[in-house]
Amino acid sequence: MASIAEMFHPLQAYLHNSKRKFEEKWRRPLVERGKLDDFKILQTLGTGSFGRVMLVKPKKDNNSSYALKMLEKAHVVKTKQVKHTISEIKTMDAFEFPFLITLEYFFKNNVYLCLVMPFINGGEMFSHLRQQKKFSEELTRFYSAQVILAFEYIHYVGIVYRDLKPENILVDKDGYLKLTDYGFCKKIDDQRTYTLCGTPEYLAPEIILSQGYNKSVDWWALGILMFEMAAGYPPFYARDPMKIYEKIVSGKYIPANHFSKSLKDLIGNILQVDRTKRYGVMKDGANDVKRHVFFKDTLWSTILFKTAKPPINNYTDKTDDKGSIDALGEMIIKKSSKNLLLKNFRTLNTICQCLRVQASKNIRVK
Ligand code: ATP
Ligand code: MG
Repeated sequence: MASIAEMFHPLQAYLHNSKRKFEEKWRRPLVERGKLDDFKILQTLGTGSFGRVMLVKPKKDNNSSYALKMLEKAHVVKTKQVKHTISEIKTMDAFEFPFLITLEYFFKNNVYLCLVMPFINGGEMFSHLRQQKKFSEELTRFYSAQVILAFEYIHYVGIVYRDLKPENILVDKDGYLKLTDYGFCKKIDDQRTYTLCGTPEYLAPEIILSQGYNKSVDWWALGILMFEMAAGYPPFYARDPMKIYEKIVSGKYIPANHFSKSLKDLIGNILQVDRTKRYGVMKDGANDVKRHVFFKDTLWSTILFKTAKPPINNYTDKTDDKGSIDALGEMIIKKSSKNLLLKNFRTLNTICQCLRVQASKNIRVK
């Protein structure tokens, strides 16, 4: 069983150090590096509501692979996602943590904003979950432990993530996770925010009720994720999003009958509509979750430093999965002789202060 010292000491120092590095990077201007022409585009890895992610190789280095996320500037402006997009790029540039995707290169051309990330080749947690129907509690514990550590770091540096869901969690070849998609990340420090964003099944009651919220929404989403991983379906579900919201706000759900007592208890303590009772949000923060009996055998530093053996580490390379790749179709890369929407994206750093575009009220629905 993890001792109190083991649990807090190395991580606290690690977080402290990481925050300093984050702040340095957050303050420095984002430098454009690379250009689209430097890369060979091989295939589509995934599509989201705001862009397409492609597998690419640098023309000069056939041995490395990256994931290139291309966001069409016109679409970002039309859907009022300029602020979110700038935040996504800055966040990806500043993050540095074992379970978080980082930015390798960033550049823009006349049509697109291009984010180049390390390629994570085990696929989305979403497809593994659908394939396996549900995860064992051991796997649920291993995966949620990484999300908890990632949230500790994300919150410690003053960011709220707001888009936890299995589609945004990638599994690497070593069986460990990487959270991706920082489109809804926002630096709020200790303030509150009001934007309605996220994915219906994962929205916290305080978002639905427009109450103003902070990092509490991420802990709620962790409870939803743990439930979905262990059950194979989310706790609040209906075809009509309005019905989902009613269920969420009521806070009533039925745990799967195979859930262990400890899992049921932990999820129950996280899925608390009343934020003053929600694990993760109270005065001991993440430690209420980490000290819970569900994690009694988890050695947190072995997760952080990736020395714990993953329960599953034999996922096949996503790029071998031709079926799903063909199904996504080929992307037509648009060209323009004019630099479109220059004013919105002139410099990602100065634009932050002078943006006129309001934060979106949209909800992304997969
Ligand atoms: P959303 O609809 O969730 O807002 P989005 O447009 O913001 O999507 P992402 O979630 O960032 O896009 O990426 C879409 C998909 O591309 C992911 O769900 C994943 O399948 C794939 N993907 C993203 N980043 C990587 C990566 N670094 N390595 C491998 N695949 C990736
Ligand atoms: Mg996504």
